[in-house]
Amino acid sequence: MIRTFKYDANEQLTPHFNCKEFRCKCGGKHDFQVSEELVQMLEKLYVTLDCMTINISSGFRCVQHDKNVGGSGTGQHTKGLAADLMCVGSDGKIISSCVVCCTAQDLGFRGIANINAAYSYTHLDMRSGGTWYGDETKGNNYCIPCSNFREYFGIGKEAEPMKKGIDISYCQKKVDWNKVDAEFVIIRAGYGRYTSQKDTMFEDHYKNAKERGIPVGAYWYSYAKTPEEARFEADACIAVLSGKQFEYPIYYDVEEKDQLALGKEKLSAIMRAFLERVEAAGYFVGLYGSYSSLTNLTDESIRQRYAVWLAHWDVDKSPYTGAYGMWQYKVGAAAGVTGECDLDYCYVDYPAKIKAKGLNGYGAEKLPDQPKKTISVEMTVDGVKYKGTLTEI
Ligand SMILES: [Zn+2]
Ligand SMILES: [Zn+2]
Repeated sequence: MIRTFKYDANEQLTPHFNCKEFRCKCGGKHDFQVSEELVQMLEKLYVTLDCMTINISSGFRCVQHDKNVGGSGTGQHTKGLAADLMCVGSDGKIISSCVVCCTAQDLGFRGIANINAAYSYTHLDMRSGGTWYGDETKGNNYCIPCSNFREYFGIGKEAEPMKKGIDISYCQKKVDWNKVDAEFVIIRAGYGRYTSQKDTMFEDHYKNAKERGIPVGAYWYSYAKTPEEARFEADACIAVLSGKQFEYPIYYDVEEKDQLALGKEKLSAIMRAFLERVEAAGYFVGLYGSYSSLTNLTDESIRQRYAVWLAHWDVDKSPYTGAYGMWQYKVGAAAGVTGECDLDYCYVDYPAKIKAKGLNGYGAEKLPDQPKKTISVEMTVDGVKYKGTLTEI
């Protein structure tokens, strides 16, 4: 949907984009238009590239302004469907337009072009009817000779940010691990507040995935109705994970009907209690939730603070407007798995982040506590002899 805003509108559209970033830069203080779909796509781009900021140099353009900057007066910018932008990575460096173009194509932007010779600015749009892939260093409206930016720029698989994975539990007892081709596996570690409720297949799945070098994450299924119960669940989860290493986040799965019925405030307090406690134990944590529970029942501060694993099945694209690093997109067949399992896409390089931060068991090896040294001492003070043991502090 395309929305129209007053010139001085100041509405936050997604966690990282405000409508005012898209207004016309002609100097006239007129209304402007922004496509919601475009902003949602830009939010995904932001998360995928792990940006510190995305600077929109040109969003909506009135007909006159579009002509003034060399456009036809009828292009995608005049419809609120386009943005010219610069992406700055979390390291503070400008992300090359080559990478932005490739990533934008992976995500499904429909009009994509590098704009300048320095490869710092990119044009992106969500035009209807077909796609256009260009490189304006070769002239205005120059189309790349192949339909694939990765091929055009020679950016290969190693720069590919999206990975395909599966999530499994006691429901998948028969897995032929030699046939599994998932790039990551998220395993149910257990549920509720007791360590005895460890998932019956957790150890088995973990061992097999590790033996084949498949990166692993985990999730804990909740029944907590209060923050206190959530902390018990956190402790059980931490105990079950102990001694293992995870390349993907540890997710809290809150989806029981009577939990959702508690409402946003109570539910968010439960989520926060678990996430804070598991994070404090040295884990990279996240939240698993459906489109509706994330949108309606989860505090914005939680969705921004922790990794989000969105569950939204059987849609081409979720209308969820928040940022998310992983998407459980359907239940289906996966190589090596008998029956069906949940299928996931991941847009964030969690293994790199987690290892860099020394989390999830990747911290410095903790040395076993050495026994403290003791010495026996004898001394004489004012003619009196004393004898005793001194212990190292
Ligand atoms: Zn204008
Ligand atoms: Zn443009």
